[in-house]
Amino acid sequence: MSGKLFVVSGPSGSGKTTLVTRILSTVENLSFCVSYTTRPIREGEVDGKHYRFVSKEKFQNMIDRDLFTEQAEVHGHSYGTPKSDIEKGIKTGVDIILDIDVQGAKQVRGIFDDSVFIFVVPPSLEILEQRLRDRKSEEDEDISVRLGIVKEEVACLKFYDYIIINDDMNAAAKRMEAVILSQRDENVEGVRRNMLAVAQDLKRENIYAPSFLKKFGLK
Ligand code: 5GP
Repeated sequence: MSGKLFVVSGPSGSGKTTLVTRILSTVENLSFCVSYTTRPIREGEVDGKHYRFVSKEKFQNMIDRDLFTEQAEVHGHSYGTPKSDIEKGIKTGVDIILDIDVQGAKQVRGIFDDSVFIFVVPPSLEILEQRLRDRKSEEDEDISVRLGIVKEEVACLKFYDYIIINDDMNAAAKRMEAVILSQRDENVEGVRRNMLAVAQDLKRENIYAPSFLKKFGLK
């Protein structure tokens, strides 16, 4: 079976990156797609793990070579999802989780429309602002720019399949895990095919299961 894409978006400060990290440690067969970016590396970040940090020239060169599934300008820097990682995941049956902004999610929707789109929101704007201030890496001016973008991002909520309110990290992580696991079971075509085979066996063996058989037009 081919891998599925899980696209996670949400305003900065919503806690989506922490949530995604948590999920990666609890859900099997799920891999994080490491984006390319031109933004400077922050303290504590590891090149190749959190992002692949590249120059503007290298990023442009990758656009020219059509190496991105999607790419967008966010908060003045370029970010892009490498095609090679997505293709590898799909081919090898490993699900891929993307932490990308709303513009990028829109582009992915146009290419892989059976992806699952998850939007993470903070419990309130006040909490969001506080979380941004607690992060030492942002200047005050940057915070107000980011807060301004939040409204635009939240307007895109309607395009997402699931909304996760990050009021409590443990609870939110459980919800996200539940979304991913339930989507895996929803290979409806495959499940139905297996159930039909079971129903046919029951009928052939004359096993009494009327309501189950009825579902498949068998009596
Ligand atoms: P940060 O620089 O704070 O890590 O991320 C800023 C924003 O860029 C976040 O909303 C994050 O989800 C988004 N982002 C990270 N990687 C990508 C990417 O590859 N493509 C797009 N479109 N957005 C990304």
